[in-house]
Amino acid sequence: MITPSTIAVFEHVMKEFAAELREIGLVIDREPERIHEFLHMPSMQAINHMMIPPEYGGQPIVTIGNERYYGLSSLERVITIEKLAAGDAGAFLGGPGPSMSSIVMMDLADEEQKERFYSHFMKGASWAFFAMSEPEKGSDATDIGTRITRQPDGGIELNGHKIYIGNGSRARVGLVFAQTNRTPLGIQIALVDPSMKGFTATPLDTMGLCALQISHLKFEGFPLEEKDIIGRHLSPTKRGLWGALRTFHRMRPSVAALALGVAQAAYDYVLEHRSIFKEREKMELERMEMRLHSLRSMIRNAAAEIDHDAQKGYLASLSKIRAAALAEEATELALDMMGPGSMMEHPLLNKWYRDARAFEFMEGTTSIQKINVFQAYANGKMQHA
Ligand SMILES: Cc1cc2nc3c(=O)[nH]c(=O)nc-3n(C[C@H](O)[C@H](O)[C@H](O)COP(=O)(O)OP(=O)(O)OC[C@H]3O[C@@H](n4cnc5c(N)ncnc54)[C@H](O)[C@@H]3O)c2cc1C
Repeated sequence: MITPSTIAVFEHVMKEFAAELREIGLVIDREPERIHEFLHMPSMQAINHMMIPPEYGGQPIVTIGNERYYGLSSLERVITIEKLAAGDAGAFLGGPGPSMSSIVMMDLADEEQKERFYSHFMKGASWAFFAMSEPEKGSDATDIGTRITRQPDGGIELNGHKIYIGNGSRARVGLVFAQTNRTPLGIQIALVDPSMKGFTATPLDTMGLCALQISHLKFEGFPLEEKDIIGRHLSPTKRGLWGALRTFHRMRPSVAALALGVAQAAYDYVLEHRSIFKEREKMELERMEMRLHSLRSMIRNAAAEIDHDAQKGYLASLSKIRAAALAEEATELALDMMGPGSMMEHPLLNKWYRDARAFEFMEGTTSIQKINVFQAYANGKMQHA
């Protein structure tokens, strides 16, 4: 149970981890591969275990009395992630751990698949990818070109391209969305081992969140077995796209929390580095502070609502729309307040300004979130908010 005093303990623990991420943020922004030098840090070890249920070996990220928290609820995640992102969003995202793939695994995988997946993180730091987006079709989750085909000899093959996949080149296990036939129920999720033949991953050059090393993945005659299909024990309506939509609803408040963390970091930076402000500047900062507060409440409400009903994604969509915009505005405001040349003189602000531009795309763009909100309104779901 999360109470105001629990939140205070969470925030205190995360503040220490955030300080570590801040230390390495600029280094791994320039040289993402150097993340391997920092995996011994307590923050990285905690991130590696975040969202792993205890029955699969997960270690708590926070312990309060007899209560242990593993980052399994959306509310725990938004409190945690906001603080870590205020340290450095890139370092957090580029850090190890199962990340959003864990939600699919918890919801849809069978016991053998869960054991196989989580065991990667028990041996030490490891990464997982979640591969849905394809070249030029990221927003349309139903239009998937990657195919799972069954061969006459009984073998199963995976073929296709995925793009912008976080930690795609360093992951040792991954989930891939693919079609078996051209219907929404034909979408399946495969659990893959990237060390197998038929897989290549190329890191992409990006402007922001460079530590995340988003990558272009290719599957060419990649071998699968029946046991690699996630949710094979469930009915077709309860896996594939249905599972993906639940995952997106559950992860969306976390993306909003990431963006809020960056916005808060930029705001705090100005207060730390300047003490005298003109009246107009004071007003701008006060307005920003109020928006940060109100967004935090909105994100926490959205997370609590998703924990209660994973189908209710519209508040999460609204908070993601606001958070992506606020991160952009807050980083711009901070650069503006630090004066001419601030892009050169304040490398952290320069970095956060670049990082903030990525949130618009993660977990669905603003246009797609607006469609979600409109659909909830049109279906009458918003009246019960
Ligand atoms: C940092 C980062 C990390 C990411 N990590 C992952 C990951 O781990 N796994 C993964 O699968 N993907 C990942 N993505 C990809 C991300 O999910 C996609 O970028 C996103 O879904 C948008 O897809 P797209 O880039 O193909 O844009 P498009 O779908 O081509 O959209 C282009 C523009 O058209 C608009 N548009 C599209 N469709 C509509 C519509 N129906 N109505 C109105 N406007 C529309 C969009 O709003 C956008 O402005 C990541 C992206 C980033 C930036």
